Amino acid sequence: ATPTAVMVGTGQGARAGILVRNAEALELAEKIAVLVVDKTGTLTEGHPAVLEVRTAAGVERDTLLRLAASLEQTSHHPLARAVVDIASAGGQALPAAAAVRAVAGRGVSGSVEGRAVLVGSPEFLVEEGVAVPPELLEPLLASGLTPVAVAADGAVLGVLGIADPLRPTSKAAVARLKALGVRVVMLTGDHPAAAARIAAEAGIDEFRARVMPEGKAAAVEALRREGRVAMVGDGINDAPALAAADVSFAIGAGSDVAIEAADLTLVRNDLASVADAISLSRATLGKIR
Ligand code: ADP
Ligand code: MG
Repeated sequence: ATPTAVMVGTGQGARAGILVRNAEALELAEKIAVLVVDKTGTLTEGHPAVLEVRTAAGVERDTLLRLAASLEQTSHHPLARAVVDIASAGGQALPAAAAVRAVAGRGVSGSVEGRAVLVGSPEFLVEEGVAVPPELLEPLLASGLTPVAVAADGAVLGVLGIADPLRPTSKAAVARLKALGVRVVMLTGDHPAAAARIAAEAGIDEFRARVMPEGKAAAVEALRREGRVAMVGDGINDAPALAAADVSFAIGAGSDVAIEAADLTLVRNDLASVADAISLSRATLGKIR
């Protein structure tokens, strides 16, 4: 690290709620042109709740929730906890899942009670050869809910509608970032309808939905042709994009994989700390020059 970087670094960063792993990154924060933000767990609280359960014909709600939650109890994805919470609230014991495979940005597959279970985005089920009927899906999308579809042995069991509220600080933070001249772009693996709702609530004009982890990194690379790009994320799915960015921020409550991939960690889980980092960097470097 350069002497400047060290000065901008640790002490002031800590006071601003930023854990500094790479002091030079904090120095680079001065001239961020674009901030790429993840949605789930970054703009939103990452404590989603299941608001609707729609079962396919002949499927019991308890069966749907038990099979889904048995798989999801192995996952660290924020949506997974919502599924486990609603199943547990019903008082059901959750059997152990075997042969579990997590597919980043898509969902989880595994064996529960001897059945081959899939839980994840409707696209994930379709990729695995399971049709998701529009009559199960459309009403949830119309409400701006995130759909999580569930299948067993190649047939859809139902779709859950999940909502994850915006962090109370996100909207003001986006406004501050814009005032600092930063272009804010949201990238999410979520469905476009749910993405549009959160972007509107946060005051973000530019977003892309259904972006897979590799797609987030590619989008960061493309934006870097236009200027210095920072990325902020919380999930395993964000790690490639964090690594691709000029300056990377992880949400402190996020996954270890994201924190290890990032230059800086937002201890308060608050996007306002990114604005603080930019202001801090500008103020400190201004004084030195
Ligand atoms: P974001 O980019 O908004 O943080 P992710 O890329 O982590 O979202 O997830 C994208 C989508 O993948 C989710 O909206 C969901 O449909 C699906 N998904 C990924 N993991 C899981 C899981 N464990 N359970 C259910 N759905 C999942
Ligand atoms: Mg996320």
